Amino acid sequence: MQVPPFSLSKQLANLAPELDIAISRVLRSGHFIGGEEVEAFEESFARTLGVSNAVSCNSGTDALILALRALDIGVGDEVITCSFSFFATAEAISAVGAKPVFVDVSDDDYLLDLSELEKAINSSTKAIMPVHLFGRPVNMEKLLTIARKYKLKVIEDCAQAAGAKWNGCSVGSWGNIGCFSFFPTKNLGAAGDSGAVVTNDASLAMRMRHLSMHGMPSRYLHTELGYNSRMDAIQAAVLNVKLPKLMGWIDQRQAVAKYYQEMLGDCPSLILPAELDEENATHCWNQFVIRIKSFSDQIENFARNQKPFKDKYFSFPNNENPRDRFKLDLESEGVTTIIYYPIPIHLQPAYADLGYKVGSLPKTEKLCCEVLSLPIFPEITKEQQDYVISRVKTILTE
Ligand SMILES: *Cc1c(COP(=O)(O)O)cnc(C)c1O
Repeated sequence: MQVPPFSLSKQLANLAPELDIAISRVLRSGHFIGGEEVEAFEESFARTLGVSNAVSCNSGTDALILALRALDIGVGDEVITCSFSFFATAEAISAVGAKPVFVDVSDDDYLLDLSELEKAINSSTKAIMPVHLFGRPVNMEKLLTIARKYKLKVIEDCAQAAGAKWNGCSVGSWGNIGCFSFFPTKNLGAAGDSGAVVTNDASLAMRMRHLSMHGMPSRYLHTELGYNSRMDAIQAAVLNVKLPKLMGWIDQRQAVAKYYQEMLGDCPSLILPAELDEENATHCWNQFVIRIKSFSDQIENFARNQKPFKDKYFSFPNNENPRDRFKLDLESEGVTTIIYYPIPIHLQPAYADLGYKVGSLPKTEKLCCEVLSLPIFPEITKEQQDYVISRVKTILTE
């Protein structure tokens, strides 16, 4: 049996009749950028999340950049975020001229460690950018308490978390601005790149809309330097078909995650995702991430001996990392897994000038050596999941 880490084929086959109609409607309309489809999507996306404004743009990365610009964050400013994330989180901060400051993640939820946050705040700190990684919501009440105490802005990176909730409210609706990606592998994926920002502040929404159109509040009047970052009508048409299905897909992802938890719970060598301890929170399971516990000692030794930037990348040479071997073993049995993320952002060659060393963020670094994402998508079959579970168990007990 072959199990891909993610597949859109069944979803696209199910939606093909609706998608064909929606896409040909756009082709016939001749409106390819902005227009009715895009406006309709912005309205329904805002309504789904319970926010007053959604502004569409070209990608999740651009959403983060637009948010930072709209909050006047730039050269000389620091933004606190985590290094255990996709590179774009930090890249957006650098793109506006500000400096990303990385705080370690917490060992149990892999999210920004809120108990470490205050230590990283100084007079240059302008904002906090929490990442709802893998679809798991950050404790936004706790985070906002700290943000208010130091008068910091909050930009939520919700790229992996469309539909996730904290205390009954959607992620993205808590901070000043929430940033979403509709990259095809996200929970709500378009047929190409696109993204959106959401906010309850109408003037911030307006500013981001202008920034996404070359800083142009009215035709050919440019009040500031902006970007060409708009959503294509075809992407909006696809998203308009898919958005009503999002919550159902999340229910399916939750059932898949629950089954993994039940069936792998007795594997002593695995660390499974921790249960959400907040009752009124929703994990939307963009990824199901396991860790291989017995590897920890080796990883700590490895981390101590690692020389960043001399080696080609932050990883064990020659697949000496047992996690990497486990991944190859699964692969040889037809189960494809992905490592999110093998190299922490603070140790990426592109960020060598920030001066972080191996050991700066020990929990993040260890996670990068231990994590593995098992196949998860709404349409995965019971047979496929049973096969993954049996392969995982067999390989680990061999
Ligand atoms: C995907 C992703 C982004 C970037 O989104 P794009 O649409 O690919 O630009 C940013 N942050 C996180 C955490 C992501 O997973």
